Amino acid sequence: MNTPTPTRRRFEQDAYRRDGQARVVAVTERGIVLDETGFYAEGGGQPGDTGTLQTAAGATLRVTDTRYLPGRLRIGHQVADPGNLQPGDTVAFVIDWARRYRHMRMHTALHVLCALVDAPVTGCAIHAGRGRIDFDLPESGLRREDLDAALQRVIGEDRPVHAREEDGARGGEYTRRAAPGEGDTLRVVTIDGLDRQPCGGTHVRATGELAGIRVARIHKKSRRARRVALIDEAATEVAE
Ligand SMILES: [Zn+2]
Repeated sequence: MNTPTPTRRRFEQDAYRRDGQARVVAVTERGIVLDETGFYAEGGGQPGDTGTLQTAAGATLRVTDTRYLPGRLRIGHQVADPGNLQPGDTVAFVIDWARRYRHMRMHTALHVLCALVDAPVTGCAIHAGRGRIDFDLPESGLRREDLDAALQRVIGEDRPVHAREEDGARGGEYTRRAAPGEGDTLRVVTIDGLDRQPCGGTHVRATGELAGIRVARIHKKSRRARRVALIDEAATEVAE
């Protein structure tokens, strides 16, 4: 069996791309595979995108989730009924931007917390309007008020965020080894003067875009684990 051609991940070059044109490569039980997509596929604690695919015949297919197929090369856009869509057909894709942008903001906020808390990260979860990150931190002097003040300072500094493909990036010097959204690429995400880590997720362009995100609470999950919960006060309704 030949190795399938990977789906071109347009969200890696431009996280702000909301729509585009693509060609159908396969229609599978795990979703519609396109030659390229702006839909982020679930990974690193960030949910898969939702949105629509418009067919040349004028049908609108609602994408309810986006996930990698086994092998993580191809991306499946999950729809209830693909109709008579065939390989070779052209579709216009549109992502649910409001939801995705909340994910991008929360994801980037978790990078900031990685840099602010001096402890290994053991897990994270990203939603539209809220998020959390777990630290291996047995003795915690971590106070919600202090951590929130540090986060608000970084937001006020409006630090640029860059994502670049870097050669030999594995084994480099990073803020943390365990990154939120750690992927299988050699993509390195940097928040100027603060954080640098390999990550395949989607991020905002500068920390000023995180305004409204606050540290909601810090709680003790176990003897060694502290969970920091974030709330996005700029997200008017919590979609998930
Ligand atoms: Zn990231």
